[in-house]
This record gives sequence, structure tokens and C-alpha cells, in this order.
Amino acid sequence: MYDQILRGDETPSLNVETGRTEWSRITDIHTYDNAEVVESASMSWSVRSTRDHRWIRWDHASETYSQVTTAGTTRAVSWQVAAQMADGPGLELAEDEAELMGWLLTDGSQWESVAICAFEGCPNPARARGLCGSHSRQLKRGQELHPLRPHYPRGAVADFSMFVWQTKPAGVQRLAEILGEQGRWNGKGYRLRDSYARDLLRRARIEQVKSAPQLLAMINEMTAVQRHATLRGVIGGDGTRIVRGGSEHKRIYQDDGPLVDVITILGYFCGYRPSVLKREVEGFPGYESKGVHLKITLCRPRAAPGRQPKRSLAAMTVWCPTTELGSWTARFGKNPVLTADSNRRG
Ligand SMILES: [Zn+2]
Repeated sequence: MYDQILRGDETPSLNVETGRTEWSRITDIHTYDNAEVVESASMSWSVRSTRDHRWIRWDHASETYSQVTTAGTTRAVSWQVAAQMADGPGLELAEDEAELMGWLLTDGSQWESVAICAFEGCPNPARARGLCGSHSRQLKRGQELHPLRPHYPRGAVADFSMFVWQTKPAGVQRLAEILGEQGRWNGKGYRLRDSYARDLLRRARIEQVKSAPQLLAMINEMTAVQRHATLRGVIGGDGTRIVRGGSEHKRIYQDDGPLVDVITILGYFCGYRPSVLKREVEGFPGYESKGVHLKITLCRPRAAPGRQPKRSLAAMTVWCPTTELGSWTARFGKNPVLTADSNRRG
């Protein structure tokens, strides 16, 4: 929302010299009252703007960028609505480890103890019902709680664990390659060696593999090669590749929540145009519905909305920033979209 944006904030913008997006400062924010808004659509993707809002036009013949208004967008015009983000400073992660972060963010889990067992004198970390694993099992068996034997197996005193769950044969094999000696198969996935998992988090500069704000910061710090590797892990975990009409689409299934933003922004930084739609799961007997199921399709970075008729919506107050590089990243629904700025300099 425009009232959450301040001058001096930064937004991913296209550097037309390099063809990459990079962070660019917002220098001004304009609002316009009572402006007619139209919807432009392309396949499973749509945006709203005024008729004279400008977009970045990609000219195939001359391989150059220019600008075109919504109203001036004819059938032959392509908009550049995503581009690969320039390298961040990079993280101390091998390419396979950057991929592992993608598997972890979709199919991983991390447990860390925040309290010790409630049974008096027991020093073990609490897991369930305020009790350590052993005392929790005693309770479950209906036993009277009793102190643990000395020299109890080491596993009982672990206060940290990280798993990546996977049963698809191709996924299991890929994770075996990535993890080598650092992972142990437990029948449903791999438990990472504790010291390795902690070191991996330290090098990724995150504390929790499912924390959306931390993952967004991680993606921003990564090089382009590391981001592509993380995206491969995400697709390996929760995605598929679909070949349709000669081009490959990457699709990721995810329940609605903060990780959807992480995945769309990762795709956008990798140069894709994300399209997030509801996934119909009706007709699966016994499927228990929990939350809203989404499919995130990563499409080509250029859209041709001039092929579909524009739809006029109501007149409303609209806004648009000016940025140093002349473009910015807007959001329509859950989709990040690169678009030209409101340029009053000329
Ligand atoms: Zn205990």
C-alpha cells in the first residue's frame, strides 16, 4: 500500500544497461484522484493500472527496452514484467547447500528446545506436554513418572534437530547426494547431523528454516547462482516441471501462508513471472482441507497482455512512485510485477 511506502525506500528496478533488476531508491510518490483503472490480462495473470500508466516494453527485433502505456499496448507488444536480480554479496554456501536451503524451506522441519522437562530433577529438554521425550512416553504408557536411568541414550538430551522429509525416490536420491555423511536416513527423510545443521544456518545467516523474514533476507544476500540453486531445491521439494507449448513452466504447490511470499519473490529474483492461483483439490476423497491450497507457476518474464481485451474497472485513487532507475516492483495480489515509474522529471 502506498501509505506504507516512504521516500528513500528501495524497490527492485530494472537496470536497462545490464537487463538485471537491482535495488533502487524511491524519490517521489504521486497520487491521482478519480482515475479510471483498467485490468490487463495474459493467461493466468492480470494487473490493474490507469490507461496512461507505462510499462517496460521489450522489442524483440532491436533487443532494446522502451516504454509503452497500458492504452498503447497492442497485440504485438511484450512487457518485461520480471528480470533476474543482480547478485547479492553472496553467502558462504556451496551451490548444493543453497539447493538444500530450498528443500528445507519446503519440506524441512527444525526443532529447538525452549524449556527443560517438567519432571522434577530431569535435566532434559522438553518436547511434548512440557516433558522430555522419555517422560512423555512414560506418561503416554500410563506409567507413574519415574527418574530416568543414568547413561540414558544421548538422543534424549538433544536440544536441537533438523529434518528434511522426503519419500519421492528422485528426491531421496538427490538429498543423499547433497548430504553425504551429513544426513542420516530415518525412513521418512533425513536428519541432518546437528553440528552440520547449526553451521549451515550460521552460514545462511538465518536461525529458523521456516522463518519468512529470515529467508527473504537470505535470498537477498545470495548470488544469482545461489538463488537458482535454492529454487531448484524448492521445486524438488514441492514442485513439478511442466512442458507446455514448447516452453517449460515450473510449478510449486504450497498452502497459503508467509512461505508463499518467499517462493514468489525467489522466483521473481530468478527472473520468472510468478502467477499464484488457487488449487482445486476437490474430488480427492479423504483429503482433509487445511487452509487454502495454492499453485505458484513461474512463467516467462515477458507478458503479452495486448492479446486479451482490457477490462475497465471503477475510477479510484491511484498512486505510483518515481525511482532512480525509472521502474519499480508492484504487487498484484500475490504476484510481484516489474513496471515503469511515474516520471515527472521530463
Ligand atoms: Zn524428563
